[in-house]
Amino acid sequence: MSRFLLFVAVLFLFAGCGTPTSNSDDSEMDVFVSDLMAQMTVQEKIGQLNLITPGGGIPTGSVVSTGVEEKIKTGKVGGIFGVYGPEKTRQAQQLAVEESRLGIPMIFGSDVIHGYKTTFPLPLGLASTWDMELIEKTAQIAAKEATADGIFWNFSPMVDVSRDPRWGRISEGAGEDPYLGAEIAKAMVNGYQQDNLSETTTMMATVKHFALYGAAEAGRDYNSVDMSHLRMFNEYFPPYKAAIDAGVGCVMSSFNDVDGVPASGNKWLLTTVLRDRWGFDGFVVSDYTSVNEMIAHGLGDLQAVSALALKAGLDMDMVGEGFLTTLEKSLEEGKVTEEDINTACRRILEAKYKLGLFDDPYRYFDYSRPENDILTAEHRQVARQAAASSMVLLKNENQLLPLKKSGTVALVGPLVDSRSNMLGTWAPTGDFNNAVTVLEGFQNVVGNDVNILHAKGANICNDPEFAEKINVFGPKIFIDERSPETMLREAVSVSRKADVIVAVVGEASEMTGESSSRTDITMPPSQKKLLQELAKTGKPLVVVNMSGRPMEISEEVELADAFVQMWHAGVEGGNALPDVLFGDYNPSGKLTATFPVNVGQVPIYYSVRNTGRPQDGDTFQKFKSNYLDAPNSPLFPFGYGLSYTSFEFKNLSIDKATITNNDDVKVSVEVTNTGDFDGAEVVQLYIRDMVASITPPLRLLKGFEKVFIPKGETKTVEFTITNDDLAFYHADLSFYAEPGEFEIYVGGDSNASLTTKFTLE
Ligand code: BGC
Repeated sequence: MSRFLLFVAVLFLFAGCGTPTSNSDDSEMDVFVSDLMAQMTVQEKIGQLNLITPGGGIPTGSVVSTGVEEKIKTGKVGGIFGVYGPEKTRQAQQLAVEESRLGIPMIFGSDVIHGYKTTFPLPLGLASTWDMELIEKTAQIAAKEATADGIFWNFSPMVDVSRDPRWGRISEGAGEDPYLGAEIAKAMVNGYQQDNLSETTTMMATVKHFALYGAAEAGRDYNSVDMSHLRMFNEYFPPYKAAIDAGVGCVMSSFNDVDGVPASGNKWLLTTVLRDRWGFDGFVVSDYTSVNEMIAHGLGDLQAVSALALKAGLDMDMVGEGFLTTLEKSLEEGKVTEEDINTACRRILEAKYKLGLFDDPYRYFDYSRPENDILTAEHRQVARQAAASSMVLLKNENQLLPLKKSGTVALVGPLVDSRSNMLGTWAPTGDFNNAVTVLEGFQNVVGNDVNILHAKGANICNDPEFAEKINVFGPKIFIDERSPETMLREAVSVSRKADVIVAVVGEASEMTGESSSRTDITMPPSQKKLLQELAKTGKPLVVVNMSGRPMEISEEVELADAFVQMWHAGVEGGNALPDVLFGDYNPSGKLTATFPVNVGQVPIYYSVRNTGRPQDGDTFQKFKSNYLDAPNSPLFPFGYGLSYTSFEFKNLSIDKATITNNDDVKVSVEVTNTGDFDGAEVVQLYIRDMVASITPPLRLLKGFEKVFIPKGETKTVEFTITNDDLAFYHADLSFYAEPGEFEIYVGGDSNASLTTKFTLE
């Protein structure tokens, strides 16, 4: 009998209860966990707080764990990440269950950020679908695949609101808006957990990075964050809170400091807000060595920062082993109490209980599952749909798109035939060898009808030093042996033979993501030059931009007849692009992060507040709030995206012009597809509070619905505005709506102009 089973058997005698099942109520769990903890030494309890990695994932910090096997056997490990596949995970679990004194199973985690092996578009792209059902479905598939491979704890969703495209990790979140971010957070938690953690196809989600990581100063990764509590609560916290409300099992603390205290040691964040205010009852894990990093932040030595973290409410220490190596001493010296350790340990054991690990510690390690559940045709189909749906049509002059499925197309650019860049950043569990390139996709979709010519035309960039930084996880930027001039000449000559040019340009996948911030978010010069030369041929030019962030693309949009923002679209991106360009899929994506005219406008977002000297229109006025050298308006606003068809909004109506505090307002609008194609529109509703006690934003997204409307048809879309939609956090952090007038705007982007109003009495 394994030690684990022996231990369980002994427990029955002690507790006098039946097999603890994951569906049992909380009191049964309490009894089970209390009995277990009564057996544990302090060292074993501290062991549960230790999360290690033998280094199979992305070692984003400077250390990976050593002596892993010995530590597991001696009860010094609560969880592990970076181990994949049912054989390996089972072996590791056996060490814990069969060789450690109490046989407590470990949890197995990973970063499954946009799909497991079936890689979906990167999160900023997925967000651009505005399709909550689809997003939830991608999370569900990710959970099914990850659990088939022995992973049942996910370090996702990443919900950090970001308004700064210099920050590389803007790619990993849902963009700039708290309302949309909250909806997406909820959809992802639901998709991963499906309200039942003990199912073997669901996984525990982790909302991250708590908190405010996306507001790093100057867009530099890991940088300080300093903002008012008002702004935190109104603009940055809603997605985290939505994940908590959706029952997320785990929260990850962020690297940055908040109010001068790093998040991993910030009691106000981890206890006052998270637990006391929001009622979170799962466990908090640090980010990769973020406890240790408080030493560099200037908060003391390892013992001091580890005690600070535990006292603040951090339960599990990722990789750094500050807890493992110092908490006992802190306990002896009275710097932490046994109660502090117990609290953290209990939360972790409860998560294990809810995951069903005390029923069967091997429940996720079924050898037959990988083959049946991973990268199935059905999953790839969802990935293709998600990729098509994430693409945003930014320009389509003279209805160049959709292209005809005939004639000759010149496919030009460094990302046409670049498999290693298809998945995008933060896809450590994916394998780019499974990805379809754009060139292959064109051959698959229109290869029989269209003559496809191809030329690389340019390197992603010509600077070997920059390329080296990008190629840390394997080659992404290949600098061609040919000279840039030779490549350009070839591209121009190929393009002259074609009816239309499709140029696929942009960023290598590691030009965004963690530690990939840029101060210059323009197209690299090699590709800029390529587009200039292609435009000179006079051939119709479709520019497709792969990137993980809003880039500064004013010139490129100008050069192009049509422009598609493709993001890094995942395993099926290569097929999805021709689906879109040739009209099998009518684009319906909408931006969720503003595209600036230039980087000097950053941070930039739609939900601005008026200054005392607002600019009138978009031309420079002396002593108004504007720039001498650029407009205030962005290149493309939040919510923007074209379709091959057109939509008209009319008959906006509300059911009441005056409401009291308990009333809802029903809003309805008619949307007509007035063009020549069937298509989907994201109907967006914005609200403006006209007068309030704190400066109200000029508009805030408070509702949206993606509706499919066949050409020529009209659909009525309805929204319900509740009191919560009108409420906001006040200086004392109370949340309520103030009486007065509210304007509503409905339309297809954040400049929506169809308007009406009502009064809250
Ligand atoms: C990232 C987290 C990630 C962790 C584990 C860190 O560097 O910030 O998002 O979950 O590594 O891989």
